[in-house]
Parts: sequence; structure tokens; C-alpha cells
Amino acid sequence: MEEENRKNNFIKNIITEDLEQGKNNGKMITRFPPEPNGFLHIGHAKSICLNFGVAQEFKGKCNLRFDDTNPAKEDQKYIDSIISDVKWLGFDWGEKIYYASDYFDRLYEFAVELIKKGKAYVCSLTAEEMREYRGTLTEPGKNSPDRERSIAENLDLFERMKNGEFEDGTYVLRAKIDMSSPNINMRDPVIYRIKTMSHPRTKDAWCIYPMYDFTHGISDALEGVTHSLCTLEFQDHRPLYDWLLDEVSVPCHPQQIEFARMNLNYTVMSKRKLQKLVENNHVDGWDDPRLPTIAGIRRRGYTPAAIRNFCNIIGVSKKESRIDVGLLENCLREDLNDIAPRVMAVLDPLKVTIENWPDKDSSNMNRQNIENLHPQDGTEELEALNHPQKPEMGTRKITFSKTIYIEQDDFMENAPKKFFRLAPGREVRLRYAYFIKCEDVIKDKDGKVVELICTYDPATRGGDAPDGRKVKGTLHWVSQEGSVPATVNLYDRLFLAEDPEAENDDFTKNLNPESLIKLEGCRVEKYLLNAQPEKAYQFERLGYFCADSKESSEDHLVFNRTVTLRDTWAKVNKQ
Ligand code: ATP
Ligand code: MG
Repeated sequence: MEEENRKNNFIKNIITEDLEQGKNNGKMITRFPPEPNGFLHIGHAKSICLNFGVAQEFKGKCNLRFDDTNPAKEDQKYIDSIISDVKWLGFDWGEKIYYASDYFDRLYEFAVELIKKGKAYVCSLTAEEMREYRGTLTEPGKNSPDRERSIAENLDLFERMKNGEFEDGTYVLRAKIDMSSPNINMRDPVIYRIKTMSHPRTKDAWCIYPMYDFTHGISDALEGVTHSLCTLEFQDHRPLYDWLLDEVSVPCHPQQIEFARMNLNYTVMSKRKLQKLVENNHVDGWDDPRLPTIAGIRRRGYTPAAIRNFCNIIGVSKKESRIDVGLLENCLREDLNDIAPRVMAVLDPLKVTIENWPDKDSSNMNRQNIENLHPQDGTEELEALNHPQKPEMGTRKITFSKTIYIEQDDFMENAPKKFFRLAPGREVRLRYAYFIKCEDVIKDKDGKVVELICTYDPATRGGDAPDGRKVKGTLHWVSQEGSVPATVNLYDRLFLAEDPEAENDDFTKNLNPESLIKLEGCRVEKYLLNAQPEKAYQFERLGYFCADSKESSEDHLVFNRTVTLRDTWAKVNKQ
């Protein structure tokens, strides 16, 4: 397994080699560096599984570090959600959570160090001028008129920037590298800007904030990170990462290694786009179960094990690709099939009256051979397996009675021969109970079937007929007494297009109008009254479901469909 795993993860090979060669004194430290400006999504899960995963495997360490250098977009609620998501995925960052903002004092000192070396200067070009001076991919940039400012003047101006003497946007601090470099990131990048704004953690202590590129490498070095793993868009930033670490006196020089982002089909992934869906109320918050956010898929019933397994299978490479969400769903089914107890629920109930069932006043009560009949209410307790392949998961009691419910779909009045479910005159098995036969059909004034009158065969208790007669269909069911009402949310893909952004400038035009179907009036086994939120159940024949962590309560159960039993999506939608 581990061997297999290395094959599709080139980063593990690099680390193995480094350790074998005794690089970094045999240590390995990675970090997961989210910016707290939104909720984490499943793309981040890939980075989390990679960074924490290698640390576990190579007995190293992985820091959780917030890259909190832009107070304009950051918020404590995002910090809290990120902590809870990483924990939920099953990873451990040790005692301390790191924040780039904890390094603000030291980062300032490193900037001063650069100025003193003549490697940074205060620039007063406006944003627009700066763009103009920067040049293009084919043309070199031009030096800023401030580039040759004296060290003393730079030190003075930078200090006054820090002291809040200037308005936002009047000055920036830039690294002095090379305005004619073919790599635009090296054309004197901005490393500090004025932003008169309170920070979620440092409050009003600062009015200048370091830029991401400056902060990131130095934070890595201060933490002794050995392998700084990031996504491919940072490849062009690597020369800057290395330049900065060479110029300032940090304790070590981590190695930046880039890998391809994970993309999934039928969804969008960037925080900015997810934010748009949330803000325009296309979804019900960041934890909407249709979103690819960790909070969303968690509320939907995904398991950490399924996500970790998925990330392992897709591996790590340098090539961008779009992964089929069907693969993720299959990882989920595999895990849920193993762990989810089976129960019965009827989503679209059709009432069935068992006419020969002894009701509580009837004289045939005692003549029937019903083992556990409750004389008071005419119900019988039967035993059901919680997992047919796993006897160790035990059994539970289910209640049979005169009034039961089956799915509307499981009955057809004029059924073709191949329809193996219930139809007039036909017999089926009710799971863990009896054979029943449909004797009569009751309709409302519009001709809609509203009730079936059936008989049951007492000799078939437990599911087989002593005379050897066979039935083709086995239906799930619940009884009036043994079930409670529930609302069920059927979730489907949020977008109809494989790449929601491909043909449309506005990806929200590709939203699937049927991504949520809310079914009221479903009935579920009473056993589910104490279903814990997020805990998976298989509703037999229907799929995997869990109680909704926000809306479900004992007074009103609400279940989310996590995933169907089989992948039927392509078949239905691509005809
Ligand atoms: P987004 O573009 O979705 O807003 P981001 O890269 O801006 O994401 P950060 O908070 O900066 O989000 O990311 C934290 C870490 O997660 C980074 O190391 C980043 O490279 C990684 N990451 C983000 N998205 C993905 C993805 N789709 N696949 C793999 N890693 C990702
Ligand atoms: Mg980012």
C-alpha cells in the first residue's frame, strides 16, 4: 500500500531521498498555511492530507499556520472553521497553532535588514504608475524614480509608515531585485503596504502589513520547515521565495515544491467563487451540503476516512487535471458500506392496510400465531439485522402492525410482467417481516392510489414460506406505530456542467435547479429518533443518509441524502 502510494506521489520520493541523504539533519517539517478568508474546500483537503500525511509517514511534524496578513478579508469565524475542519479530517498539529501575525515584529525587522543592505526601498508610485513601470511579459520594466533613495531616507520613511504618518496607498516598501527580469515576480515586488485597518488578532498594533510572498518564506524558515509544499501557481514565485531567504538572516532555507491543484467536475472550488454562491444565496451558507467545502460535505454525511482515501488515490503530480466527482463518491460508498447501520425509511409513503392482521379489538387476536404481539395495540416486534454482512453490528427491533407504509414507487396498478414489486393480486416479501398480497386498491376522487388493502401470510414470518413458494421482490417498509415523520433532503450535484465555468462567463447560470429536493412527510424507523447528526445510516434500497446537524431535532427529524447506493447520475443525465 505504502509502496503503491509512493508511485503516485513524487513529493514522497523527494522527502525519502532527502532523509536518506541526511539533509536538514534528518528532520522533516511541513506546514498547512491557509489564509483565513473563507471556509476550506476539498482542494484544501488534498493539501492537508499531503502535508499532514507525509509528516505522519516520515515521523516529522506538520504545522497549522494561518497566513493572516490581509486584515481586509480575514475573520475569526474563518479561523475557527479551519481549525475545526482540520481536526475533523483527523489530523493533529501538536500543541501550538502558528499565525503569520505572530511574526509581525520579526518580519518588520527583516524588512529593516533588507533596507540596510540596500535591498529594499520605499516607493511612492501610485498603483497605476506601478503597473505601468512593471512592464509586460515581453517588455522589461522601468526603474522607479525612488529606487535610488538613500538607505537613511528609506529607514526613516519605513519607520514613519509604521507609525501611521501616511495615508493608505501613499507609500509601499519594495524589494530591490531586477526590473528587467523575465520573471515579473522579481521586478521589485512590493513587500509591505499601508493598510489602516484593525487585524483580527493584532488589533490596531499595525497599520502596515507584509505581503504574502515576503511573509510566507520567512514564516517557513522561522518554523524550521524543510519542505514547503504549495500549488503550481507559486512556481513563478519560487525565485522570489529563494531570493528573500538568501538575503535575510533566517535560520534555514526551506525547499519550495509545487504540485497541481485538485479540481473536481460539476463544482467550483475557489473561495472567491464559493463566496459568491453564499453571498448571492444560491446556497444556504458555507456549510450547505451541496458545496465542496469541508463544512458542507461534513454536514452532508461525508466521512474523513473517505476523503483521506480519495486524496491518497488521486495522488500528487505536477499536471493539472479535473477529477471525476464520481471517484470521490465511490470512496464514500466504500467507507459507508462498511460502517453505516442499515435501517428502513419510506420517502414517498403509500398506506397499506393488512386486513387479516388482528386488530386489538378483534376476536382473532389470540388465535393468531404471533410471537411478540402486544395485545394492547396490536403491534408485533420483529428483529432486523443492523448490517447483513456484519453480525457483530447486532440487531434491532422493528415494529409490524396493521397499518404500514411502502414506497409509492413500489406499487404499480397495471404492472408489466417484469415488475417484481407489488401489484394487484401479486405477492411480495416485506423485509424482515412477512409476505403480503395485494387484494384491493383504494383511490381518491382523482383516481390517485391512496391505499392498498393487503393480506399477510402468518407462516412467512421472518421472510420465507414453509411451502417453498417464492416471491421475486423484497420491499422496505415501516409501520404506523414503528415510525415517525421526517423531512428528507435529496441532494444532487450543484452544477449541470462538468466545468461550470467553461461556456459561460457567469458560472451561476449552470446551477442545477434540482440540486436540492426537499421531501416532506417521509417516514423513518423510530430507531432514528436518536440519530446523531452526521452519523451515517443506510436507508435500505435508497442510499446513505445522516441527520442534518443544523435542522434535525427529536421533534422534527431532518435527514440529508449523503450519496445514492450506486452511481446513477451519468445514466440519468447524459442520455
Ligand atoms: P482558493 O484559490 O480556493 O481561494 P487558496 O490557495 O487561495 O485557495 P489558501 O488558504 O491560500 O487558499 O490555501 C492554503 C493551502 O491550500 C495552500 O497551500 C494552497 O496551495 C492549498 N490549496 C488551495 N486550493 C487547493 C487545491 N484546489 N488543491 C490543492 N491544494 C490547494
Ligand atoms: Mg490564497
